[in-house]
Amino acid sequence: MAEAVKYIDIGKRYGNNIIFTGINLVLNEGDALAVLGPSGSGKTTLLKITGLITPPSEGKLIIYGNDTTGLSNKHLSKLRKIYIGYSFQEPTFMSGLNVLENILLPLYPYLDPHDLRNVKEKAKEMLDELGLKGLEKRMPSSLSTGQRKRVDLARALIKDPKILIVDEPTANLDEESANIIREIIKKLITSNKTVIYAIHMDKKLEEMANKKIKILQYK
Ligand code: ADP
Ligand code: MG
Repeated sequence: MAEAVKYIDIGKRYGNNIIFTGINLVLNEGDALAVLGPSGSGKTTLLKITGLITPPSEGKLIIYGNDTTGLSNKHLSKLRKIYIGYSFQEPTFMSGLNVLENILLPLYPYLDPHDLRNVKEKAKEMLDELGLKGLEKRMPSSLSTGQRKRVDLARALIKDPKILIVDEPTANLDEESANIIREIIKKLITSNKTVIYAIHMDKKLEEMANKKIKILQYK
């Protein structure tokens, strides 16, 4: 069983503000980690560290055997490209690009023009699976919160990443959108991906996780 993510004594502070310290955990393929804790406790911070967006202040983060400590931005973005899909708490999209174009955007730097047809098909299948059939030409700004969250998930999944990180997958969503997202996450876990998500109020997602971290307010 491959080790996807290893946190060794991970800590984070902003100035004098200690967010958390001493996180030690290994995530294997097929593991689902729920990051729990009240608002402002540091859930997004831990996800951003895991997604190589923010460096930890202390400790080491290992992604598939790669020690990420002190790596250049170029090297970090290469690791992100190979291993990580990230769906933000509040997704933003490129204005002027429609849903399909936004989903395909992460692929463009590497895309062989001959593959364009295939990836477009793949993106459409993904939209279908996410209950967004027929919305590919819409502008993201014209969609509901739940639809935007699902489009963001499609964008994170288009590279078929081994590690999927989702910040508050179902927060403030209607039950239909939330259920579709839970089903996708369940499917990823059973297909041996490593899924990491922050939640503050979703018992169903909490139960789906086999590992949990609860971040407390550090005082
Ligand atoms: P959560 O996702 O659990 O609501 P966050 O990880 O977003 O919490 O934030 C945890 C704490 O870190 C908060 O007190 C927040 O103000 C602080 N914080 C987050 N990002 C930064 C930053 N870039 N600079 C300074 N403080 C930050
Ligand atoms: Mg957050």
